[in-house]
Amino acid sequence: MHTAIVFTPHADDATAFCGGTLAKWSVNGWKIILVRITDDARDSVGLTEEETKKRNRSELEEASKILGISEIIDLNFPTDSLADIPLTKIRERCVYYIRKFKPYSVFTFDPYTRYEPNMDHIRVARAVEEAFWVACFDLHHPEHFKEPGVEPFSVCERWYFARSPEEITYGEDITEFFPKKIKALSSQKTMIKNILNQFRLQLKTWGYKVPIIEEAFENDPAFLIEQILYMQSAQIADTCGFGEGQLAEAFRVDRFGDLEAFFQQSAEPIEGIPQGPKRTFLDKYWP
Ligand SMILES: [Zn+2]
Repeated sequence: MHTAIVFTPHADDATAFCGGTLAKWSVNGWKIILVRITDDARDSVGLTEEETKKRNRSELEEASKILGISEIIDLNFPTDSLADIPLTKIRERCVYYIRKFKPYSVFTFDPYTRYEPNMDHIRVARAVEEAFWVACFDLHHPEHFKEPGVEPFSVCERWYFARSPEEITYGEDITEFFPKKIKALSSQKTMIKNILNQFRLQLKTWGYKVPIIEEAFENDPAFLIEQILYMQSAQIADTCGFGEGQLAEAFRVDRFGDLEAFFQQSAEPIEGIPQGPKRTFLDKYWP
C-alpha cells in the first residue's frame, strides 16, 4: 500500500484543491495522511478564537472521514502568521513526517506559482519543496533517527495544486468522486462562511450583493460550492482531453525534473519493491 501526505496550512485547503483525488486514491487503497500546519484560529465570522479552533478541527475530522483521510496531524502554528516563523522550523517538521511515514507522493501548494495572495500557502509550499531533498540527507536532523523506522527518505512524486493556468502538467479524473468532494467541503461550514463573508464585504464596497452568496452565507453553502466547482472541474477535464461530462482536478506534478524522460527510458524495476503507478503527463501546459 502506498502512502500520500498532504501538507497544508489550513483546514479547507486539502478538501478544496485535491479532495476528489484523495477520495479516489483512498478508495484505491492508498493511506492518506493530512499534516495541518496552522491552528486556523481566525477562520470564522463572529466566534471567539477558541470556538473557531474547536469547530474547524471537528469539521475537518468530518471532511476527512468523507474523503478517506486516515490521520490528521496538527502542528498548531498560529494561522496567517507563518511569515513570522523561521522556514527551517516548518521544514524540519515536514522532513520528520516524510522520514516517518515514507510517502510515495506529497501534496501541497506550488512553491513557484504566481498570483498567490496567502503567505501561509507560500511558506508551506517552500518548506515542503526544501523538505523533499533535505529528508534524504543523513546529516540534516540526525536526531530524527533515534526513533525506530525514521530514516533518510525521498518522496517520488510532488503534487502541487495548479492554481495558475499555465502550470498544469497532470489532470486527475475525479468524476466519480465529485459528490464526496462537495459533501466534504460543504461540511467545513465555519471556514466556508468566512470565505463567503470576504466576498460579501467586497461586494458591499462595490455597492452590490449576490443573492446566491447571501443564501449560502445564511444557510447551506453546498449548492453554491457545487455550482462553482462543477464549472471549474469540467473546464479542467476538457483541457486535459477527458470525455464529455468528466470532471478533474489540476496539478503540476514533479518527479525527477529535467531527468524525467531519461529515467523513464533507462529505469529498471527493483525486486522486492512495488513499482509505482504509471503516469501520463500532459505534453503541454495549459493553455
Ligand atoms: Zn489555505
